Amino acid sequence: MIGILDGYVDEPSCLGVPPYISPYPRYVAGMLRDLGHSYRYITIDEFRKNPSVFDKAKLVIVIAGIAVPGKYLGGKPLSAKELKHLLPEKEKILVGPIVLEDLDKEIFERYEVLPFPFEHALYERLGGEVKDSSRNFVNKFAVLGAEVVKQHSDYPNVICEIETYKGCYWGRCSFCIERIHRISMREPRWVIKEIETLYNQGVRYFRLGNQTDFFTYLGDFSKDIPKPNPEALKNFHREIWRRCPKIKTLHLDNVNPKTIAAYPEESKEIIKTIVCYQTPGNVAAFGLESADEKVIERNDLLATPDEVLFAIELMNRYGRFVGYNGLPYFLPGINFVIGLKGETKETFEKNYEFLEEVMRRGLLLRRINIRQVKVFPNTPMAEVGYKNVRRHKKYFKIFKERVRNNIDNRMLQKIVPKGRLIRDLRCEVRKGRITFARQLATYPLLVGLVGEFERNAFVDARVVDYGMRSVTAIPILDVNKAKLYQLESIPGIGKTTAAKIISAKPFRSLKELKDLIGEEKFKILLPYISPMMITPAAENDEKSPS
Ligand code: SF4
Repeated sequence: MIGILDGYVDEPSCLGVPPYISPYPRYVAGMLRDLGHSYRYITIDEFRKNPSVFDKAKLVIVIAGIAVPGKYLGGKPLSAKELKHLLPEKEKILVGPIVLEDLDKEIFERYEVLPFPFEHALYERLGGEVKDSSRNFVNKFAVLGAEVVKQHSDYPNVICEIETYKGCYWGRCSFCIERIHRISMREPRWVIKEIETLYNQGVRYFRLGNQTDFFTYLGDFSKDIPKPNPEALKNFHREIWRRCPKIKTLHLDNVNPKTIAAYPEESKEIIKTIVCYQTPGNVAAFGLESADEKVIERNDLLATPDEVLFAIELMNRYGRFVGYNGLPYFLPGINFVIGLKGETKETFEKNYEFLEEVMRRGLLLRRINIRQVKVFPNTPMAEVGYKNVRRHKKYFKIFKERVRNNIDNRMLQKIVPKGRLIRDLRCEVRKGRITFARQLATYPLLVGLVGEFERNAFVDARVVDYGMRSVTAIPILDVNKAKLYQLESIPGIGKTTAAKIISAKPFRSLKELKDLIGEEKFKILLPYISPMMITPAAENDEKSPS
């Protein structure tokens, strides 16, 4: 048996931290199957609970690499310290973006380290013969290895990250590791076949997230800025739905705003296709990185602030309408990278001014990501390293706080106003009487549910309050099972009415409830309770504890 240890990846164009499962473990499992090996897959979080799982493995393939670090609710990535002391007696192969990092040599000496991207090298290392040097090489393995999702501890509540192509048509931004990939598309029929195979394994959540610019997938790359192909993308989506009619989430990740600015007509058609054929709550992450023209020039960044504003406007025009799950269909998100070459105090002002302009124009941004640059060897950023990160620590903190306090909060109130019903929230972590939940989606909104729910329970809830980047929501309640603290949290209900309800329950009808609390309070309460969820009185003979 060969072990696959998923230490999680997070790259500019690929995510594999739960509930996401990146393509890599699926490709590795497919290769092992193809070569006649049995395997056992486990995530690092599960491995920490059960470190003897690989006792009988003759080899362990470790997948890791957090190239664009974030905060993760769903899992804790493998750390450098853990990597150093992992399975000391075992033969181990290390793959993934981790190998691009400037880590302690001692760590790498404990592994057989394969170059990244690793698929061709790994297949050869395992005894296979490589006949195709393009990304289509992974197609067979993507299909063969789809079954591995069943070994994920969150299955079937996982989102499969799907690769459509590698590489970036620009590939020059000073900090970005995408430069290492040459442009190579996967044939759409194979991408669709992979999705269909995963679907047949029970997966219902997908993100077409593993590419640098979804709009140019299947586009014309003979041009400097590749020309999108709206018709091909529409057919691609139609075929996915024809084969997988019960998909619950179909989202994407990166879109290059330069593509939209260069090809507005084609982009408009693609936005409409995405609104029609993908699911609501979708977000396209735009890399602005900096709104300071000096930083743009020094770091070879691609899109200008005006182009990014244009792209935000176009996406808002067709995507801002609210879908059946409570979120707008398709909104842009935006990335800032701090610590780049040429950055000064003014850069932070320009970045902030850009966001104020977005607000003034009444546009919606689903997510503003601000991160400090992570410097990789062999990138132009390596010349200056972390000099500006250290120098501008204070400005970074102030900028972030300003954005969180003045922009994010206002934006959230526009995107999900109070009272909005958000559906299909998957419960993840419980802290006291609050359960943190998110939709299985791209860049999902974090929701603090008032109530205690088990992990993997699905809940619908109404927004009642805002944090800086999260909302508080009351789950739709069965009034006969509701807790006092839940009823009290409903705006306008108050402690007295809540206590009245608790002491009078169970109710056999809504009329009984209305008679008790009066017309006015009943109207306030009604959106938060489900008439369908009034349990028969007999089941509630004992009063629930409050
Ligand atoms: S445009 Fe720049 S940041 Fe974006 S993927 Fe390409 S090289 Fe990386």
